[in-house]
Amino acid sequence: MLEGLPEDALRRGARIEARLYGSLSATGRGHRTDRAVLAGLLGQKPETCDTRLMDELQDPARKHVVAIRGVGFELSGANIVWDKHDHDYPFANTMVMRLLAADGVVICEREYYSTGGGFFAWKGQPAEDRGAPAYPYGSMTKFREIVRTSGKSLDEIMLANEKAIRRVGEKEIIAHLDLALATMEEGVRLGLSEEGLLPAPFEFHRKAKQIYERSLAAGADERFMGLLSSYALAVSEGNAAGRLAVTAPTLGSAGTMPAIVYYMKNHLRLPRDAMRSGMLAAGLVGFLCKNNASVAGAEVGCQGEIGVASAMAAAMLAHATGAPLEVTELAATIALEHHLGMTCDPVGGYVLLPCIERNAFGAVKAYNAWLIAKSEIAARHWEDLDRVIAAMLETGRAMAPQFRETGKGGLATAMVGC
Ligand code: SF4
Repeated sequence: MLEGLPEDALRRGARIEARLYGSLSATGRGHRTDRAVLAGLLGQKPETCDTRLMDELQDPARKHVVAIRGVGFELSGANIVWDKHDHDYPFANTMVMRLLAADGVVICEREYYSTGGGFFAWKGQPAEDRGAPAYPYGSMTKFREIVRTSGKSLDEIMLANEKAIRRVGEKEIIAHLDLALATMEEGVRLGLSEEGLLPAPFEFHRKAKQIYERSLAAGADERFMGLLSSYALAVSEGNAAGRLAVTAPTLGSAGTMPAIVYYMKNHLRLPRDAMRSGMLAAGLVGFLCKNNASVAGAEVGCQGEIGVASAMAAAMLAHATGAPLEVTELAATIALEHHLGMTCDPVGGYVLLPCIERNAFGAVKAYNAWLIAKSEIAARHWEDLDRVIAAMLETGRAMAPQFRETGKGGLATAMVGC
C-alpha cells in the first residue's frame, strides 16, 4: 500500500504504526505478534525468514529501518500499539496499520484480520484471483460422494483441486508438501537437541530432550508414548523459542502433526510418497474444519487448534498407511471428537502453558484415534466428521470469551504464581 502512495503523501509520512486489537493485543506479547509484524514490515516471508533477524527482533528497543521508494522509516517495538481487547471490528484478531504524519494525522490506513493458521484478510480486499476447483466440495459428505461417483482417489481429487485453484503444476505442489514435511522433521530433530529455559517472563524449562532420552531407556510399555510425546514437545518448544515451524493448522498446535510425521518416517519407515499422501488427507481435514468452523483459538478455543491438528494427524496416519477413506474419516472424527470443549487459556498469553504439552496429547490422541478407527467396523460408528465439526463450531460459539485466547480465564488465571 505504501509503495503505491503518491510521492508527496509518502514523504509526509513520519511513522508507521501497527495497532493490535482483541486477542492480538491480549496475548500478542506471548505469541510474539510484535516481532512478526516488524518482520513483515522488513520484508520477511514466513517460509524463508532470516533467523538471525528474527532473533534480533526479540529486542523491542533495537531499531531497524525499512526503505519505501527511497524514504526510510524507523521500526522497533515502539511502532506497535497494544490497543483495546474489546472492540467492534468484525473479526476478533484485528490489526490496523497506519502511516502517520509528524502531527499525528493519518495519511493512510488498512484494517487487517488474522483468521487463523497464518491466513489473513483485509477490509476491502479484492476477490482473490484463484481458479475454480476441479471437484468442488464443502463437506466430507460431498467429498465421499465425489470419490464414489468419480472413481478418483483422495490424492487425485486433492491434487486436481490444488492445481486448478492455485494454477500450478503437480511438481510445485509436491515440492511444497516436501518442504512442509522437511520443516516438520527438522523441527523435531532440532528440538530434541536443545535444552534450557524458553523465553518467558516466568521460568519455563524445555523438557523434550529429557523425555526423549528417558523414553529411549524405558521399557517397551513406556517407550513409545514417551517418544511420540517428545517429538511433539520438541517442535512446540522450538516454536515457543521462535524457531521455524509449519502452521498445521496453527503455530500453537504446530507440534502435533510433526510428531506423527516423525513417527511415520522413523518408526513405520513409510516411503516419501505415502507421507505426501498422508499430508493430502491432513489438508482435506484441515480445510473442512477451517471452512465449516474455525482453526482460531480466538474463535472456537483450543479444540480448533490442537483438536484440528490431532484430527489432521490422525487422518494423515490412516491414509498414509493405506486405510480406506471411511477409516481415514473415522480416525479424524474420533480425534476431533475427543477435543470438543477444550478452551484456549494460555498463561500470560505465552504459547507455553498449556500449549506445549497439549501438542503431545494431540499427537497421542491422533495415534489412538487411528488405532481405534482401523480396528473397529467403521460403518457402525455413529458420528461423522461433518457433524463433529458442526459440534465444534457450536461449542466454540457458546464458550465464554475468557476461554477464547484472551488469557483471562481457566489456566491463565488459575496459575496465580505466574
Ligand atoms: S491454548 Fe491452544 S488454542 Fe490457545 S494458544 Fe495454546 S495451543 Fe493455541
